[in-house]
Amino acid sequence: MARKNGKDGKGAGSEKSAGRDKAAETQPQAAWLDHPPSFAGWARSAIAGTGTAPSLSPHLHPVLPPAAPGIVTVEPGQSVNLAAIDPDATGGLEKAAAKAELDAQRTRIKGFQEKLYAEHRRSLLVVFQAIDTGGKDGTIRNVLEGVNPQGCRVWSFKVPSAEELDQDFLWRYHLRTPGRGLIGVFNRSHYEDVLVVRVKNLVPEETWRERYGIINDFERLLTVSGTVILKFFLHISKDEQKERLEARLADPEKHWKFDPADLVERKSWDAYQTAFNDALARCSTPYAPWHVVPANRKWARNVMVARTIADTLEAMDPRFPEPRKGLDGIKVPD
Ligand code: AMP
Ligand code: MG
Repeated sequence: MARKNGKDGKGAGSEKSAGRDKAAETQPQAAWLDHPPSFAGWARSAIAGTGTAPSLSPHLHPVLPPAAPGIVTVEPGQSVNLAAIDPDATGGLEKAAAKAELDAQRTRIKGFQEKLYAEHRRSLLVVFQAIDTGGKDGTIRNVLEGVNPQGCRVWSFKVPSAEELDQDFLWRYHLRTPGRGLIGVFNRSHYEDVLVVRVKNLVPEETWRERYGIINDFERLLTVSGTVILKFFLHISKDEQKERLEARLADPEKHWKFDPADLVERKSWDAYQTAFNDALARCSTPYAPWHVVPANRKWARNVMVARTIADTLEAMDPRFPEPRKGLDGIKVPD
């Protein structure tokens, strides 16, 4: 069952939740709860497929399937403690079976993508967040291999430019959300503005704290506009990060990936984990929950993500448009 920690009522990875920071404890959990109750109920029922909210078409808002085995999905309103989630978990998958399983999931994604593109009504936004070396690039490369590039846009967000910093913090992300028929992939995302920005004190605390609710509103806007949002947090251990950094130093072909700044960031490991815990807890909504992917084992991580994307596309049930009428009688002139 994907929502592994959902039943104990304490939170995802709750066993060691004492590690959360003090300030976060005093804030209300999950800002979406601050919306009028009508909205919370509306969104829940919309996603569960049980509601009759007037402006929601069931075709635009599919019942989201559970994530693949091994993934921990954060229930809205739960606290999160990543330290209690095992990054080595494989969801019961054996390494020997992983390649065939990944191939099968990629074939499913490819088939659904063709229909999504042809249908030209909804879109899928896949968000990846992780600490440095967490595997965002590798996951995107492995999972999306074979999809039609015309129907897919991958955006990697770096330090904002001067032009981007002159705008509201969501501007550069909203410009790149996928249009109808497209799969959009965010390699880093609007969450950086409550992660690196928080850890490095790039804006005052009151500014980043306000952003959780703004992000939930942004994702709600996208959802009601026909975009299904899948958010994956790739969860690795500190030891695994060390090994990956060492591998980049040891292999000349990987030198280009080694960024000395990653060593500076590594010193802030705990601060990042706290920031991740809060972002995952406060921005897991019924319409866009966070999925924590155990990501120490790349082969298992790829399968978990691919399967979740394929299952979500299947639930969206994209269809080729109805053929034009009267095609039977048409003759193509010589
Ligand atoms: P990489 O993904 O390794 O190419 O690095 C991109 C860098 O951009 C990372 O160090 C991120 O923390 C940084 N970055 C991304 N978005 C933001 C943001 N909104 N504000 C500040 N830094 C950011
Ligand atoms: Mg980097």
